[in-house]
Amino acid sequence: MKFVDEFRDPDVIARTADEIRRLADPGRHYRLMEVCGGHTHAIYRFGLKDVLPPNIELIHGPGCPVCVLPMGRIDDGLALAREPTVSFTAFGDMMRVPGAHGSPLEHKAKGLDVRIVYSPTDALKLARANPDRHVMFFAIGFETTAPSTALTLMRAKAEGIGNFSVFCNHVTIIPAIRAILDSPDMRLDGFIGPGHVSTVIGCRPYEWIARDEQKPIVVSGFEPLDLLQAIVMLLRQMKDGRAEVENQYRRVVPWEGNRAALAAMAEVFELRPYFEWRGLGFISQSALKLRDAYAAWDAERVFSVAGVRVTDPKAAQCGEVLKGVLKPAQCKLFGKECTPEHPVGALMVSSEGSCAAYYNYEHRKTAASLRILTPA
Ligand code: SF4
Repeated sequence: MKFVDEFRDPDVIARTADEIRRLADPGRHYRLMEVCGGHTHAIYRFGLKDVLPPNIELIHGPGCPVCVLPMGRIDDGLALAREPTVSFTAFGDMMRVPGAHGSPLEHKAKGLDVRIVYSPTDALKLARANPDRHVMFFAIGFETTAPSTALTLMRAKAEGIGNFSVFCNHVTIIPAIRAILDSPDMRLDGFIGPGHVSTVIGCRPYEWIARDEQKPIVVSGFEPLDLLQAIVMLLRQMKDGRAEVENQYRRVVPWEGNRAALAAMAEVFELRPYFEWRGLGFISQSALKLRDAYAAWDAERVFSVAGVRVTDPKAAQCGEVLKGVLKPAQCKLFGKECTPEHPVGALMVSSEGSCAAYYNYEHRKTAASLRILTPA
């Protein structure tokens, strides 16, 4: 398949892995964080850990939007779904995320009007087609998905569609990286920068990481060779004593970002003073809310929202895994009480969640090889 096979070529992968081994100082342990959940998924899916030398440790970052959403926000959104005239709409990866009283899918099973949509525009279409219902879109995601929510709200306003609103949970990536760097239990040598978010924000917002924190960061694509090349670029910087922002994903990511998408976001959203992140706590100016001009489409203002706060089950160690302090399999519930079929935490739900990615690729692989070694 053109444009994909080239990034999965086994010979080039082997040569790039050799290059990584040449560049990595055997006397040093490297801790590199891949910020994006899509990268975590790709790392496990393609077994990239297996081609890296053992002194290169990949730490999974907070870039899975479903995983960092606190349970209370899910409960607040689902409380609105109990209003008799409200249709709750969300992306499919939200449907199995557990709230304190069940997931959206479980609410649907109880008869509430909960629907999967593929885009916020689909939710707006539903509102147009069902004038007797109020269609609420549960918006989630980083700067990657925020522009499509913004454009949908602009269209709703232009058309004067009054039976549509957005429950906004959009978050921004830079304050989360700052919180991780400020965390006393975190030691990192560099970052694999998020590919999707950077298509919107570009590379410039990362410059402080290199300048002030002296950490190299390489924005990367999602194919095996993208990620391996990003690691080569990080190791080269460290070998040369450089800390810079580099763009491995130039075929998609413009250095200055997507100006039209940024303009749509600026028209519709403003920063919240603070927002709670699962595992990271409250982070100031880390999330978006609708501007006053869009108050009529803001579910938090159209309805009364309780602002529920729910603590994770005591034994769940999602916070430590989210911060990269623990590996997924080190959580006491991993693979026992918490599995993709019965998730306790959100990291086990989304395909970008590190626990789900680890379970689906590493854990199942290990279980299968154990079965081969110990035939019945
Ligand atoms: S195994 Fe489950 S409970 Fe433990 S960190 Fe992962 S998602 Fe959270």
